[in-house]
Amino acid sequence: MITSTKLRLHNEDWHWHLKNAIRDINNLGQKLNISLESFKSDFPLLVPLPYLNRIKKGDLKDPLLLQVLPKSEENSSQEGFYLDPLQEQTQTDSPEGLIQKYSGRALIIAAGACGINCRYCFRRHFPYHKNKLSSTKWEELIDYIKSDSSLKEVILSGGDPLLLSDQFLYKLVVKLNGINHLTTIRIHTRLPIVIPNRICPDLIEWKNKCEKNLVFVFHINHPNEIDDQLVSYLSKLKSNNTTLLNQSVLLKNINNDPNILSALSEKLFSAGVLPYYLHLLDPVKGSAHFFVPLREAKQLIEKIKAVLPGYLVPKLARETAGKKSKDIMYY
Ligand code: SF4
Repeated sequence: MITSTKLRLHNEDWHWHLKNAIRDINNLGQKLNISLESFKSDFPLLVPLPYLNRIKKGDLKDPLLLQVLPKSEENSSQEGFYLDPLQEQTQTDSPEGLIQKYSGRALIIAAGACGINCRYCFRRHFPYHKNKLSSTKWEELIDYIKSDSSLKEVILSGGDPLLLSDQFLYKLVVKLNGINHLTTIRIHTRLPIVIPNRICPDLIEWKNKCEKNLVFVFHINHPNEIDDQLVSYLSKLKSNNTTLLNQSVLLKNINNDPNILSALSEKLFSAGVLPYYLHLLDPVKGSAHFFVPLREAKQLIEKIKAVLPGYLVPKLARETAGKKSKDIMYY
């Protein structure tokens, strides 16, 4: 069982990358040889170095840079964009920390932060501090899941659940293994994409201990996010009970291009990951400059359908506040 905590961090340790991520706009500009505008935002800059290394220096239009770069457009007036676009903050009482949007599934807001701050994040205004789970709260959640035999799947979301320690995740997996009516544990994460060595030996240890179906749903938006290092780390996750899926967000000037979306699907498949959803942007305040209209999104799917096999075409999906399932807009 996982017992040790490394005392001295080095750059082969994912904690080191978290600690040394870029948090200052001038520092980001220096690293990329560009001058960047600075403005006030309550959603801070956060860019880990392995992700930064995939950004082209001197290119203000780099699609990876655009995902993390705070821009003054975030502060402009945005009709139809809300602080809580999916009205999740009114659903977190059953019990605290758990969101039950869909029948048979329970989503736990397992962590209150991420390894990167994506400017279009639909939870960029989510009050994580009010939903922080103490060990007592975790026990209450486990008891709740045990008591509801209609639950088949537990979804760990966040923030990023892989920010939890491997010691904690090991214990959690052991507890969930003991709940007979659960069949599946799903983990929504972007952390291994931005810091690939998050897929460390301690993670593999609890992953191998899991007796349920295990599904990792990654968040990758652009083919440039997938490099050889990431492919090599992802290969460590492959095993009989583990499925690797990806969901992307459709983002203006980043991936709203059929060639980019096709290349993304092909690279994902080569890395052992199936494209799953292409999400329309959730209308969160501060993200209007990323918005791609539904009509354009459907045209894009039509174009990639013409060149890709069906299993590489993601479902175009949209979440609507209060609905019991996602709207699948187009296959
Ligand atoms: S990784 Fe996901 S939850 Fe975290 S900031 Fe990005 S979009 Fe939001």
